[in-house]
Amino acid sequence: MDCIFCKIINGEIPASKVYEDDKVIAFNDIEPQAPVHILIIPKEHIASAAEITDKNSAVVSHIFEVAAKIAREKQLDGFRIVNNCGDSAGQTVKHLHFHMMSGRDFGWPAG
Ligand code: AMP
Ligand code: ZN
Repeated sequence: MDCIFCKIINGEIPASKVYEDDKVIAFNDIEPQAPVHILIIPKEHIASAAEITDKNSAVVSHIFEVAAKIAREKQLDGFRIVNNCGDSAGQTVKHLHFHMMSGRDFGWPAG
């Protein structure tokens, strides 16, 4: 499948990995929008948050456990987790991913 994140998972494309286990990997975003900008993704190819069902949703809670673990390890003083789902929301890579950003102040509401 022509999916850039699947290629990172199978090692075809390099990434700066922060965390990996049998279900997920986390790596630094190539175009960081904050001093800390990590992408946490399932190893299973799920196209977007709109494709989450009762069959595959367990990985989402695992991703949030991993986010909390990364925050503890990096002693992050607050962080923002973002998921862009669909073109209108700005999703450019069609493999489910959660942006974990920290190290600056974030405005709200988001633009
Ligand atoms: P989104 O726009 O929500 O789909 O986010 C996709 C993210 O993937 C963007 O923040 C990109 O900078 C990031 N990205 C794309 N290709 C790579 C790559 N090879 N390594 C790391 N991050 C990437
Ligand atoms: Zn994929």
